[in-house]
Amino acid sequence: MTAILAMDGPSGAGKSSTSKAIAVRAGWNYLDTGALYRGATWLALNKKIQSAEELLVALSQSPLKFNPNPKSPMLKCGEIDISDAIRSEEVTSQVSKFAAMPEIRSVLVALQREIISNAEKGIVVEGRDIGTVVAPNAHLKIYLTADLTARAKRREAELNTNEDLSQSLATRDEMDSTRQTSPLEQAIDAVLVDSTDLDLNETTELIWELLKE
Ligand code: C5P
Repeated sequence: MTAILAMDGPSGAGKSSTSKAIAVRAGWNYLDTGALYRGATWLALNKKIQSAEELLVALSQSPLKFNPNPKSPMLKCGEIDISDAIRSEEVTSQVSKFAAMPEIRSVLVALQREIISNAEKGIVVEGRDIGTVVAPNAHLKIYLTADLTARAKRREAELNTNEDLSQSLATRDEMDSTRQTSPLEQAIDAVLVDSTDLDLNETTELIWELLKE
């Protein structure tokens, strides 16, 4: 059975950087499930789609394909590389709306499980509902969080902007935590890691030790 490390938590807690670092170190695959929700949102915006039904049709015509290599993760929609496009402000501001649609989640969870089962050695999977819904049998579940101010500062540095991003992070967290279908929540058997006062190396070391155990 594929070994699975589930990494859940709110936006900007450092899940992506930590997950990629751990996967590289372990020689495992890496799956960014947020990228898939962003990809579906990109397609909806691109085709001016509002409803889940229309989006399901569009996704079947232009399927999402994720390359699970932690050194060069890539997302395609049909034949188009959308790895950069899914990070736009427009996609970021709309993604929680499409991610709340149960029909869309069901298709994307099936895709995530397929990617997980194709991993040879192991896989680090990051998202919001990995430990609770996608892979409840994961070998280790981490709930990575940090203060809102710390998360906003990291995002601002990442995007190289002076704009205060705390409001948009808080809005997205609120939508993600209060939706009906698989909301963001800590699995009861997840280890809580607060990265407010830790840098990327310290966070990675801490989780690496937990994984070794
Ligand atoms: O991780 P990232 O910030 O890229 O995720 C973008 C959005 O995708 C989240 O705000 C959330 O709405 C959605 N998402 C989700 N379930 C996941 C991963 C992401 O609903 N497992």
